[in-house]
Amino acid sequence: MRIVLIGPPGAGKGTQARVLAGLLAVPAVSSGDLFRVEVRQGTELGRLVRRHTDTGELVPDELTTTVVTRRLGQPDAADGFLLDGFPRTVRQAELLAESLAGDGTALDAVIALGLPDDEIVRRLTGRRMCPACGTTVHLVFSPPRVANRCDGCGGGLVRRADDGEETVLRRLAVHSAQTVPLLRWYADRQLLCHVDGSGTVPEVSERMSAALAAVRR
Ligand code: ADP
Ligand code: ADP
Ligand code: ZN
Repeated sequence: MRIVLIGPPGAGKGTQARVLAGLLAVPAVSSGDLFRVEVRQGTELGRLVRRHTDTGELVPDELTTTVVTRRLGQPDAADGFLLDGFPRTVRQAELLAESLAGDGTALDAVIALGLPDDEIVRRLTGRRMCPACGTTVHLVFSPPRVANRCDGCGGGLVRRADDGEETVLRRLAVHSAQTVPLLRWYADRQLLCHVDGSGTVPEVSERMSAALAAVRR
């Protein structure tokens, strides 16, 4: 299946993408993760990307789409993928649709993961990430076994540079202004299902699986 996950920062997209990708045996592709690898490696692309991510603004559409579609061109994504955080604008959605059509494919479903603002702030303030392997934990809701150490690879956990309060508020505003209109665009194409992102990780996974089962029928 070819699936897109849309939601405000902190809604649980990355967490759920990892669970669902395992169940569906497709790769989870996160635009944010692709960018963070470039930033960490200090590439020229990474330096360009940081100018936008540091302040919570979106990376330009064409650049973002190039990075993501290049990843989707790898063999493991040939039969399906779960996109986390891309597309985020109508323009990106148009470019993705064109790219998929060029390969004779199309999206099967778009899941909009919703969460109230106060819960978003709780999730983002406690989020910690392992830069080495991309694993995300939460200090209160899903703490690591050893304080400040990644359960997966033992690497040190960090707070994302863009998870500070000011940048979070900007990212929420950018989501409302630029990504919310995309929901209408996908609804018009009969691809959109809404899933409530509140509750425990397994509760949300269960809702998402049920939504996808309905799409497949
Ligand atoms: P979150 O998980 O909090 O939603 P991401 O890790 O997906 O955040 O994205 C981090 C940052 O990377 C965004 O704030 C934005 O600057 C940039 N970014 C990620 N995906 C996109 C996209 N599809 N279009 C433009 N910028 C993006
Ligand atoms: P997104 O990719 O949408 O920005 P994440 O998957 O990174 O969101 O989740 C944001 C934070 O909330 C992380 O610290 C994660 O561990 C935590 N989290 C994710 N889903 C849940 C949940 N259902 N209940 C509690 N915390 C959660
Ligand atoms: Zn790790």
